[in-house]
Amino acid sequence: MSMLEVKDLRVAYGKIEAVKGISFDVEEGQVVSLIGTNGAGKTTTLRTISGLLRPARGSITFEGKRIDDVPAHKIVTLGLAQSPEGRRIFPRMTVEENLMLGAFARKDGSSAVRQDLDAAFELFPILRERRSQPAGTFSGGEQQMLAMGRAMMSRPRLMLLDEPSMGLSPLMMKKIMSTVQTLKAQGTTILLVEQNANAALKISDVGYVLEVGKIVLRGTGQELLSSDEVRKAYLGEE
Ligand code: ATP
Repeated sequence: MSMLEVKDLRVAYGKIEAVKGISFDVEEGQVVSLIGTNGAGKTTTLRTISGLLRPARGSITFEGKRIDDVPAHKIVTLGLAQSPEGRRIFPRMTVEENLMLGAFARKDGSSAVRQDLDAAFELFPILRERRSQPAGTFSGGEQQMLAMGRAMMSRPRLMLLDEPSMGLSPLMMKKIMSTVQTLKAQGTTILLVEQNANAALKISDVGYVLEVGKIVLRGTGQELLSSDEVRKAYLGEE
């Protein structure tokens, strides 16, 4: 049994079918990426898994349990957290308050939560330095680190990351990708959505290519990186 099993998933916005019957699995301990151009349905897929959208058809099973009709706040308590595209931090709250919000659903007490806050500060030292500053004053890259830190605070077994490198400098992007690898080494399973296919595939065990709501290719990160089709369409090569 895979940690996450998505079967024949269809998601529509009114009459627009954004996801047209996709199936894929995420094995425990892996980094799996969904790549594809604008509008392929990547964000829609992640938002449906985390319970923010409801599928029109199909099933989503997390650790053996159907979650496609479970409310989003309950899904977090099952061990699945999303770090959203566009960051969605709370600008008037401090950095530390934003991080602590990630732990709202935990029942394992304050010392474990403190430990994870320290772990987030270790990964992203700037969050510690600026812990009392309103989060709205952060740059895009800093907000991205905060959003990832907040997702970590729920101590998820599966983390969904939506475009973590969006709008970041090459240096920051490297930092985010190496953080993904660190999280993996610490035992977190990761489903990653990225427009930067090159960066994502380099660190992925498995990748899926989405085109207008359908999966058109599946392979290991290495296979997709060396596939002519992927190189031409997504890595900007001739
Ligand atoms: P991007 O990388 O640009 O975010 P994506 O692969 O994540 O793209 P989605 O955001 O999932 O793609 O969008 C898939 C399709 O669904 C697109 O055609 C988009 O226009 C449409 N769509 C997304 N959100 C809505 C919405 N709230 N209402 C109507 N259509 C939507």
